[in-house]
Amino acid sequence: MVDFSLTEEQREVRDWVRTFVRKEIMPLEPEVLRRERSGQPGIEPSEMRELQLKAKESGFWGVLTPEEYGGMNLGAVMAALLESELGRSFVPFRFGGSADNILFYGNDEQKETYLKPTIEGERKSCFAITEPGAGSDARAIRATARRDGDDWVINGEKTFITGGNEADFTMVFAVTDKENGAVTCFLVDREMGWKSQPIATMGEWGPAALTFDNVRVPHRNILGEEGRGFELAMRWIGQGRYLLPARAIGACERLLEMGIDYARTRETFGLPIAERQAIQWMIADSAVEIEALRWLVLHAAWQVDQQMDSRQAQSMAKLYGGVKANEIVDRVLQIHGGMGYTRELPVERWYRELRLLRIYEGTDEIQRRTIARNLLKGHASVSGVLG
Ligand SMILES: Cc1cc2nc3c(=O)[nH]c(=O)nc-3n(C[C@H](O)[C@H](O)[C@H](O)COP(=O)(O)OP(=O)(O)OC[C@H]3O[C@@H](n4cnc5c(N)ncnc54)[C@H](O)[C@@H]3O)c2cc1C
Repeated sequence: MVDFSLTEEQREVRDWVRTFVRKEIMPLEPEVLRRERSGQPGIEPSEMRELQLKAKESGFWGVLTPEEYGGMNLGAVMAALLESELGRSFVPFRFGGSADNILFYGNDEQKETYLKPTIEGERKSCFAITEPGAGSDARAIRATARRDGDDWVINGEKTFITGGNEADFTMVFAVTDKENGAVTCFLVDREMGWKSQPIATMGEWGPAALTFDNVRVPHRNILGEEGRGFELAMRWIGQGRYLLPARAIGACERLLEMGIDYARTRETFGLPIAERQAIQWMIADSAVEIEALRWLVLHAAWQVDQQMDSRQAQSMAKLYGGVKANEIVDRVLQIHGGMGYTRELPVERWYRELRLLRIYEGTDEIQRRTIARNLLKGHASVSGVLG
């Protein structure tokens, strides 16, 4: 049986978040825009924390975090539904109580020092693999870690690291065995000596360049096994391939609603532009694409929950989400005419932000490469999961 309906519980959880976004998040939007336009962060860490604690009072804490760590462990489908509700606002809110999936692979001591304080929001992490000479081709990284007694000495440069300006510690990937190309992941506190430098981007939040100049790290700070870092990196990158496009669903729904409202009221040549076929087609195409994206995302999330190999489905959702969200925001901007291009409305903000979706955590081209290779090698079928 194929069932596209939500359970009573899923609906209740989804509706709670929808109300939270409407009552607590959306009212912040004018102030967030005002601040960003004067070069300040849209939302201060203390305000984020306050909102997260407010959500926690109703139990919303650690959507994907196991219950033994105080989380809700709601599963991928529910996480996707919630993420798309949060995406309806451009305020960069996320629920508290979560940590990078690979920190759960730490030993007991690392869990106490890094995982638990990150879940509690007391420490901030960042994930650092990309380098100036290695992005899509992550195996080409050059940063090195050299063993010296009980320590390792790290040298190299990382770039485009989200949260790198604010992080207390980084999960950094470095080559530990040049001959075999073995890569190891290290947990490195800022106090151990790495430096960060903000990178200005077309989006509202900037990543950082990180510099490691003879940074000394104790051997016990290796995350997972020595030489097995690349597997951890792929696990980290793989975790969000359905969550990023899930957030885009919410953004596209809200944008299309804005486009529909504007088309109903804006008159030209004696008629609302909503009466024009050119505008109707933009609305229709966008609605179809949002619907298709919703099911690609939920299907990928469902495969995650079923513990199936979801890589093909996740790459499809990430590729389609990136491409279509950019087409949709462009159409909505077009429907708004000159107003869409101004900073009076958040459309241009979304236009800049959604562009990133086609680049990070695997570019469009890399997703296409994955999808095509899986088909060509017979790992996936064109008839999908139904076989
Ligand atoms: C805002 C932002 C935040 C980021 N956050 C992080 C982070 O937290 N941690 C982190 O480690 N990294 C992060 N990244 C890095 C991001 O993952 C990389 O930018 C991305 O993987 C692409 O790598 P690149 O920029 O080096 O482009 P390149 O790999 O140099 O690619 C350049 C172009 O060539 C295309 N291309 C590459 N290989 C192929 C191929 N085989 N076939 C066809 N086309 C190809 C690409 O799709 C792209 O269009 C972030 C990037 C940005 C912009």
